[in-house]
Amino acid sequence: MPIIKQIEVTVTRVPLHNPVAFSNRVVQAREYCLVRVFSDNGTTGIGYSYAVNTSGRILAAAIEEVFAPILLERDSLEVELLWKEMYQEALLIGRAGAAMRALSAVDIALWDLNARSVALPLYKYMGAAKQGRVPTYGSGGYYQPHKTIDDLCSEMLSFVQVGHKAVKMKVGRLTPAKDAERVGAVRDAIGPDILLMLDANNAWRDLPMALTALRPLERFEPFWIEEPFSPDDIDNHAALARNTSIQVATGEVEAGRWRFKELMDKRAASILQTDAIVCGGITEWRRIAATASSYGIPVAPHAWHDVHAHLVASADNAPYAEYMPDDSIVNFRNVIDIQMELEDGDLIISDRPGLGFNFDEEKVKDYGWKEGNRGPWLVMKNEDMK
Ligand SMILES: [Mg+2]
Repeated sequence: MPIIKQIEVTVTRVPLHNPVAFSNRVVQAREYCLVRVFSDNGTTGIGYSYAVNTSGRILAAAIEEVFAPILLERDSLEVELLWKEMYQEALLIGRAGAAMRALSAVDIALWDLNARSVALPLYKYMGAAKQGRVPTYGSGGYYQPHKTIDDLCSEMLSFVQVGHKAVKMKVGRLTPAKDAERVGAVRDAIGPDILLMLDANNAWRDLPMALTALRPLERFEPFWIEEPFSPDDIDNHAALARNTSIQVATGEVEAGRWRFKELMDKRAASILQTDAIVCGGITEWRRIAATASSYGIPVAPHAWHDVHAHLVASADNAPYAEYMPDDSIVNFRNVIDIQMELEDGDLIISDRPGLGFNFDEEKVKDYGWKEGNRGPWLVMKNEDMK
């Protein structure tokens, strides 16, 4: 059985050369907390999570202080047991947010390690529900200075031209009339047969505000409206779902299976966007997806197709991965060595073991920690923990 002998963590800060905006935030850089878990069988698993403009260090501290001491010298196959112990140890500082993101990163590394240990691609190790080919939707449509409606339409059309049958754009930053002009132009550009998703990134304060923004958009038949309110405002999600023809999608910053059950019990979303690098890792993502299946609700995980293509391929009720062609925006792809191929709008999962990629050491050096005289990785072994 594989015994965990060493854990390494770093934070890479990857700047956006052209900062982008959504309804209520401008993104200047993305910080990724990267983890490597080394086993005595010679195999290494990798995982990661993210923390937008700042704060990656908080995730790394949780791994260093809370999770690594639990994992060292343990059997990596005991993922459920290890998850429970990590969750319990972090109970007072965790359950959602930074600690749960850190737990997610190490949990993903355990799954990756275990799949690599038996030389299987992760989705097959998890029990494949699809045959190595995953439908995606093309995602972008951010607000940027000087970006015209024509630019936006060209961007959305470029997604369709590479085979995506569904595309997503941002809404909620401009007035309802201006956003209606953008959405209407995109619908005209892509035609009636392409699904059009809208992402509001928590734009609206209450139901009247949301309905004022959404009523003019209904005639363009959006497939879903994503994150209309603060994630904590579950009742308003439910109220909106009862008052618009557009499906409500949410969950990209939610953590823990109980919260997703609450969303489903309250009929607050008809699509969950559970993100494995946020919600508690692959272990928790599987529980949430299985519960959603019982409710007849699909899971369309948020971003990070390098991980989520495997999870979508492993679950029968996961119709899409999200694919963002512009890797200068969601720029995780800048720190890994192998990119997944897109063919006719589908991601092709290779037969390489585990996640099928590694961190690019040169990029980790460029973007990772530079303090002191050590390399970018903070190395933790058992003797360091005593
Ligand atoms: Mg979103």
